[in-house]
Amino acid sequence: MKIIYDEDIPQDIRPSIEEVIKESITEPCECGCTEVYVSLHAPGSIDVKCYDCGTSFFELEMEEEEELSEI
Ligand SMILES: [Zn+2]
Repeated sequence: MKIIYDEDIPQDIRPSIEEVIKESITEPCECGCTEVYVSLHAPGSIDVKCYDCGTSFFELEMEEEEELSEI
């Protein structure tokens, strides 16, 4: 899985996001794309989707302590 981060995603939380993605996404998207795009969906809310077709894999919430929790 290749992970592409939107520039709005803070550098210091990227390693945590990467961990969650590696645990959660074990297969490529239905469209066959193996690139994942991480962007801010709303303040504090991170959207993880297919880079190619835009299918959303899951969303993450950025908490105050900068811990991530899967919704
Ligand atoms: Zn796709």
